[in-house]
Amino acid sequence: MDFPALEREILKWWYDSGVVGKYLNKNNQSKSKFSFLDGPITANNPMGVHHAWGRTYKDLWQRYHTLKGDAGRYQNGFDCQGLWVEVEVEKELGFKSKKDIESYGIANFVNKCKERVLKYSAIQTEQTKRLGNFMDWDNSYFTMSDQNNYAIWNFLKVCWERGWLYKGHESIPWCPRCETAISQHEILTEDYREVTHESVYLKLPLVNKPDESLLVWTTTPWTIPANIAVAVDAKLEYSLVNDLWIATDAVSRVLGSGVKVVKTVLGQKLVGLKYKGPYDHLGAVTKISSHQKFHTVVATDKRIMPVNTEEGTGLVHTAVSAGVEDFQLGKKLGLPMIPIIADNADYLEGLGELSGKNAKKHPEIILDYLKTDNWLLKIENYKHRYPVCWRCKTELVWKVADEWYIAMDRPDDTGLTLRKQMIKVAKKIHWLPKFGLDRELDWLKNMHDWLISKKNRYWGLALPIYECHKCSHFEVVGSKEELHSKAVSGWDKFEGNSPHRPWVDEVKITCSQCGEQVSRILDVGNPWLDAGIVPFSTLPEDWFPADFITESFPGQFKNWFYAMIAMSTVLKKTQPFQTVFGYALLLAEDGRPMHKSLGNSIDFNEGADRIGVDVMRWMYVTHNPEVNLLFGYKTADETRRRFHLILWNVYNFFITYANIDKYTPSLRPSPNLGEGMGVRYSVLDRWILARLNQTVNSVTLALDKFDAYMASHVIEDFVSDLSLWYVRRSRDRVGPTADNDADKLACHSTLYTLLSTLSRLLAPFTPFISEEIYRNLTSEESVHLSSWPATKRLSKQEIKLIKDMKIVRRIVEMGLSERKKAGIRVRQPLRALHISSQFSVLSSQLIQLIKDELNIKEVIWKSGDELTVSLDTKIDDKLRAEGKIRELIRQVQELRKEAGAKLDQKIKLTLLAMPQSLDKLKRQTLAEEVVEGEKLWIELL
Ligand SMILES: [Zn+2]
Ligand SMILES: [Zn+2]
Repeated sequence: MDFPALEREILKWWYDSGVVGKYLNKNNQSKSKFSFLDGPITANNPMGVHHAWGRTYKDLWQRYHTLKGDAGRYQNGFDCQGLWVEVEVEKELGFKSKKDIESYGIANFVNKCKERVLKYSAIQTEQTKRLGNFMDWDNSYFTMSDQNNYAIWNFLKVCWERGWLYKGHESIPWCPRCETAISQHEILTEDYREVTHESVYLKLPLVNKPDESLLVWTTTPWTIPANIAVAVDAKLEYSLVNDLWIATDAVSRVLGSGVKVVKTVLGQKLVGLKYKGPYDHLGAVTKISSHQKFHTVVATDKRIMPVNTEEGTGLVHTAVSAGVEDFQLGKKLGLPMIPIIADNADYLEGLGELSGKNAKKHPEIILDYLKTDNWLLKIENYKHRYPVCWRCKTELVWKVADEWYIAMDRPDDTGLTLRKQMIKVAKKIHWLPKFGLDRELDWLKNMHDWLISKKNRYWGLALPIYECHKCSHFEVVGSKEELHSKAVSGWDKFEGNSPHRPWVDEVKITCSQCGEQVSRILDVGNPWLDAGIVPFSTLPEDWFPADFITESFPGQFKNWFYAMIAMSTVLKKTQPFQTVFGYALLLAEDGRPMHKSLGNSIDFNEGADRIGVDVMRWMYVTHNPEVNLLFGYKTADETRRRFHLILWNVYNFFITYANIDKYTPSLRPSPNLGEGMGVRYSVLDRWILARLNQTVNSVTLALDKFDAYMASHVIEDFVSDLSLWYVRRSRDRVGPTADNDADKLACHSTLYTLLSTLSRLLAPFTPFISEEIYRNLTSEESVHLSSWPATKRLSKQEIKLIKDMKIVRRIVEMGLSERKKAGIRVRQPLRALHISSQFSVLSSQLIQLIKDELNIKEVIWKSGDELTVSLDTKIDDKLRAEGKIRELIRQVQELRKEAGAKLDQKIKLTLLAMPQSLDKLKRQTLAEEVVEGEKLWIELL
């Protein structure tokens, strides 16, 4: 079965026939609604199969609610602004640094970024259509829209009015290639790389005792010129070994065993000692050398910078300007600092021979100097996880910069900090899986202030902050209108453009404190502001808060979820969404992240064409969302065999025999159990219909709880029952060899009900195959314009029947394994099966199923403590003869197949010898005529 080809055909038909439009408007008048909010996809590259995972969930719940009759908003979103787009455009244009951008022209560059977004949003739209999603494609939102940007201006203004927006001067992680700050939010676990650096053991001689030195270890030698202090743990014991001070616990690891300890002291004793550094002669260093705490041993604050003795020496190099912890410790202890690198990580002026050289590209300039001047004990290669820029993968550095922050711990006029308010709001949200809340709270409790600015960048939110260079007063503009009213020049150059650089930078306002003309700061905004505002910029008032969002968990606690909660807390003091459903990461089948370079990555298009999207979607929904998904062609094939092919075979079985038997759905009995319109349902029919009811109930319950994993497995179990038991036991009931017309009708009617209901249940999960089955069976326009099957409480009889059938199947399983043990094929009838059981005797119809399946004449039931079965394996002549007939029937059926006989084709049968009775043989093989001859043979008639 070529599922991808079927899908392409249906996809085209959906859009040509207007089904999608009808679906979007199906419940316009409905009072109940399902407010879905799409987390914007970055419109920067074609979609990957990992995007398809989340997009399947998004479509699933919207389809489910649409079938249930809820009005929906089917708005798709694109994330447009930020470094990710800039970096790709830079690559496209062959740029190496920001100088190239400046000479190309900011306006040209920003327009290129916009173009790229439009190009890839169009590609992603086509791909998402291919995935089967029905969205309001003409009304997608873009975070680069004026509406979105101005909504963020409003948010920032409110923050400013509450006193939460401030300019900070701190040491922060920084990308020297992008020349911009990388905020704490942006560094995810996957943005670390296993790298080897040269770590150094540095000897720092004491000023008052030049024959004793502090032994200090650092993995970032490029920061040594920024050294201000050496931190020790005041309560830890240190030893003087020969001429070196080192933590006692580190002595043997660093210096080897058998060394002579001269004396030991507590760290407290070392505090206050002064030492000499290797770069004391440089101008930038001498400038602060008179500071009272310059090159002094300090006691660390363990909460900021813990001292450990498992690696290093227990004496910590503290470079206040070049490390986050160093900076914080410096702030707490009042240490001065020496800024050493520029935005591109070149050493600054005042650092002698280092000045102008790149700190990261040329580590040897430090190491060579330290070697020649006897500052080193040793150099060791050190393998560690080191943070890299999440966009361009350049190793990060730390530098001091002026950046803009939203304060988490300043109380507003109600006395509450933003942190406290956000924690309250986060707790009102329903997190799925449950641990989501803990992760979010963990982040909220520990995060620093929110760094919202990006220096030296172009394509992003223009932060509406106007800072006066004369008096340092700054204000925040909250809307386009406000900017217009305050503009004193440049409005004419801005008007008609989007609020982006460089156009918006033309507008100047007047400082309200000193009257000076003021420009906008040149920074752009953190991109999570863009995505965080969408509950406000896209949802109409009466659709707020959203009922449901879903995204991959890792990362979003710091990013999208965080930004939305922050913005909604500031603007409304309430939750922006009611339920968030998170899922883990998609990896390649080999357990590694998908990467082109590893040869294990699968493009969405390639996957869709090879696997088919219904199979892809089923892989996603049947996966436990808490666990990383290993995605590949092998699992795709397993999924297809496990589910789609089985379903398709059941459908095929029905279609084939319904055609032969000339069944039409108008002969359908009432869906109620038991008898209807002259049809008598067998116990098998009643059982599978009860199972169908049970399945509808469970799937509905699971989807109401946003549990696609449970729902899909319930469906899979049902389809397995349907195929492995219902169809298996019904094969002889239909087709030309069956002779009970009432039973035929019952079987066809049952299959019709099953498949037409099942296709509606499957519509949200696998929209294509369900459409094919539903339309072909019912002749209705589309399964997606139908309705969700009604739930119905199971009757006592249904519950009992389901339970009894389980016992039947258990007995059958045991019986088959007994036959196997005895080495007797199922085709050979046996006299009796003895069942000893704690259950009461099953009904005669159920017993008949056991007899049929196991080919047994009689079932003898007695009560016992547990279920056991035993076979009467004595075979008399009569049984043997019967067995032979069955064997003969099988052989003839093989011959029919080989001859390509149609299912209802009559044959002439030649046998080696005539058996005693021909009736069964003739009926089962559709033999009109039977003759004796040289060999077993058939002729088609
Ligand atoms: Zn970078
Ligand atoms: Zn001023």
